Amino acid sequence: MEHEYCTAIVLAGGSGKRMGSKVHKQYLLMGGKPVLYYSLKAFQESNYIDEIILVAGAGEEEYCRKHILEPYGIEKASKIVCGGEERYHSVWNGLQAVKQGGYVFIHDGARPFVNEEIIRRGVENVSRYGACAAGMPVKDTIKIVDENGFVKDTPDRNMVWLVQTPQVFETELVKEAYTRLMREEELNVTDDAMVVEHMLHLPVKLFYGAYENIKITTPEDLEIGEQFLRN
Ligand code: C5P
Repeated sequence: MEHEYCTAIVLAGGSGKRMGSKVHKQYLLMGGKPVLYYSLKAFQESNYIDEIILVAGAGEEEYCRKHILEPYGIEKASKIVCGGEERYHSVWNGLQAVKQGGYVFIHDGARPFVNEEIIRRGVENVSRYGACAAGMPVKDTIKIVDENGFVKDTPDRNMVWLVQTPQVFETELVKEAYTRLMREEELNVTDDAMVVEHMLHLPVKLFYGAYENIKITTPEDLEIGEQFLRN
């Protein structure tokens, strides 16, 4: 496969309210290292990734440089960009720092278990489909409910996936989708695939991430993460 220039935007601009801790979830220690370190290391060591753009919370840029990028040798990190109020603002800020052409990986810094195989599948799928995202088929039955908690619908389980990151796009395509979003801004955005689906009406392919590719959101997740590391 011909090598296209690949940039990874790693998002660490969230406040982690659900963790109930003063330290933001991406900086909490797991296996003695910050959660954020693990995904940065995976992209740093990846044969597919050329450049990393780290999106940090406002005022945390220096902390990230001194305590994460420098000590752990994340040399592909060319820029630290300031995050925004919502995740999609942080992505938008990150996208401004991405060079023209090639592919962009957008990844939650709170997902430490991304690995080279997932990154490889991302490259393979983006080169075929232009827009794709890691995910996994659900194991449980999913219910759609109304505001009062009554079941409205039970989708066919074979057709329901949990979506993860990385989400991978042709650079110009995702920049166009986000440019339109920032102009219109009427979507309750929770992931990047959604922006491409709604703003460009393009199909987004899901590819296998991993069941271990969890997002560290609550204290239980941190314990599960520790367990995965031990294994
Ligand atoms: O809040 P959520 O769990 O969706 O966050 C997913 C990722 O996006 C986390 O890594 C978080 O640090 C990042 N984020 C961000 N800027 C925000 C909100 C979340 O970079 N304003």
